[in-house]
Amino acid sequence: MRRPLIAGNWKLHKTLKESHDLAAGLAKELAEVSDIDIVVAPVYTSIATVATAVKGSTVSVAAQNCYPEETGAYTGEVSPLLLKDAGCEYIIIGHSERRQLIQESNQLINLKVKKVLDTNLLPILCIGETLEQRENGEMLEVLASQLKEGLADISNEQLGKVVVAYEPVWAIGTGVTASDEQAQEAHSFIRGVIQGLSTPEIAADCRILYGGSVKPDNVNGLLAQDDIDGALVGGASLKLDDFVRLVNFKR
Ligand code: PEP
Repeated sequence: MRRPLIAGNWKLHKTLKESHDLAAGLAKELAEVSDIDIVVAPVYTSIATVATAVKGSTVSVAAQNCYPEETGAYTGEVSPLLLKDAGCEYIIIGHSERRQLIQESNQLINLKVKKVLDTNLLPILCIGETLEQRENGEMLEVLASQLKEGLADISNEQLGKVVVAYEPVWAIGTGVTASDEQAQEAHSFIRGVIQGLSTPEIAADCRILYGGSVKPDNVNGLLAQDDIDGALVGGASLKLDDFVRLVNFKR
């Protein structure tokens, strides 16, 4: 049985105080939730503050990125080890904004996923096709190569810890959501690719989140799909009430 996961990606939003207040509000409002995992991903500078605010609560902390080395001459970078030290349990890897704005390759993403796993943190690996790729009929090929290259040379034991987030690029921050059927089709395909990379058991246990304009009014339909195990949420994770409503999706 896969345990659902709802993760909020705060992107480049919120000051220290705003991050603290939202995290403290979530810890209070979501104190009674016991049947799903709840994660928030603040900016680097707020991670330690947010981790302190949610300590002992039902809310865990993620980073939005990392560098695939532990320590050393890597000016401006932050390692999984230091993110763990600051209170992170998860790290988002390969978000489409990083793939597009900073040209992150599947090879770099693979190094990051491995480093996150070696640090005993849980990677949330983001994959997804652009509108152009979908319209050209390349969606399945793109998803398969993002998975195969992003998860190359990872043992079955470690693959069992990876969370995948399917985020069609055309649905991120656009207000356009994939239909329940479109999302389920992609998730079912992704589970099949994971099975090819590991075992039927690992694929059956792998949590696959949907991301792309998830809101309180569309979350129930999406999360009712067989292969959708949670959501990675941007815009709607920035408001306390909306995120609380998302976590309380119908189940
Ligand atoms: C995201 O940032 O991963 C995301 C899905 O954003 P939004 O929910 O705003 O589309």
